[in-house]
Amino acid sequence: MVELVLEDIHIMYDDFHAIKGFNLTVKDSEIATLLGPSGCGKTSLLRAVAGFNIPSSGRIFLDDEDITELPPQKRGMGMIFQNYALWPHMSVEANIGYGLKVRKVGREERKKIVMDLVKQVQLEGHDQKFPTQLSGGQQQRVALARALAISPKILLCDEPLSNLDFKLRVELRTEIRDIAKQHGVTVVYVTHDQTEALAISDKVAIIDEGTLIQEGSPLSIFSNPETLFVANFVGENNTLDATVSDTSGKLKVKLKSGEELITNVTNSDLAPGIDVTLVTRFNELNFAPAEAGNQLKGKLRHLAFMGDFVQAEITLHDDKLFTVNIKENLEKYSNLEMGSEVSIQIPADAMFVFKDGKRVV
Ligand code: ATP
Repeated sequence: MVELVLEDIHIMYDDFHAIKGFNLTVKDSEIATLLGPSGCGKTSLLRAVAGFNIPSSGRIFLDDEDITELPPQKRGMGMIFQNYALWPHMSVEANIGYGLKVRKVGREERKKIVMDLVKQVQLEGHDQKFPTQLSGGQQQRVALARALAISPKILLCDEPLSNLDFKLRVELRTEIRDIAKQHGVTVVYVTHDQTEALAISDKVAIIDEGTLIQEGSPLSIFSNPETLFVANFVGENNTLDATVSDTSGKLKVKLKSGEELITNVTNSDLAPGIDVTLVTRFNELNFAPAEAGNQLKGKLRHLAFMGDFVQAEITLHDDKLFTVNIKENLEKYSNLEMGSEVSIQIPADAMFVFKDGKRVV
């Protein structure tokens, strides 16, 4: 059993308060991701878990042991970084086996563990090469195998895929998740890429300016953002300012562009005239059939063919830009002329409503 608990962590750099009372529990074998914009404090937290930073206050527990001030080498953690950090003068085999050698594991057993890992990370035939003879993706595979070789209590990953191209990032994030699950290792993963976080994690912790904003499964974070910040950070969205127009049944709102929309919200605290913000996902909208309700009208500004869908950019009546990913009738819509009048359907359940940055339901 390996459970990591961060309890009321504060990190100060001189008088700059980088982490402000952060709490998180990462359960045994769980992959937990710290997700947030650049500078929000992800690396500071990861370094505190690794032992490179001692928090200004708060405690870190590994199982029931307080490790807050334990030196990094005594924590039994493996780490992979954005820049791979391999030993350039050592072969793949020697890099992966390094931690085992330090721990005085015999040559034969070492070889067996290393070769098993070489196979798992799909580097068979590359074990005698040196890091400079490998691609970025292969180097990160070596780093992963090296981190796992010592059977770490926790695997820490600091933006490990940031230097790789898109296709490889997608491939490797699946591999990292699969291999971590095979090893049953508990993982703390840092990224600013929301798609990567959703794909790789069991739990996502969203951080803004050193504060935990929301934590939960990828599905719960995506489907139930509690704040405008989370909704905007996770998913590709349109944000629209609106005013409450009717609260007698389901909440009705009037947009700056003049249209009125019915939402799914039944919150009775909202009164007509109150300002709210609507968030809609590009992927949950479509051009409207003639008879549809809840429509938004505008002029087509740009169409981009994206493969599985066409991304349409529309200028609304208040000149705001609005984006829709069209997934049906691609041929028909691809031929629309720029400037044509189009209607977009906004289903009531495809809208999040926020008041003062907090979600209302
Ligand atoms: P990125 O995604 O850009 O790596 P991050 O979320 O990992 O960012 P941190 O590197 O943890 O953020 O930094 C959090 C804040 O603390 C930033 O404002 C950063 O400038 C500041 N900071 C980090 N390390 C130090 C330091 N050693 N001294 C002073 N300020 C620091």
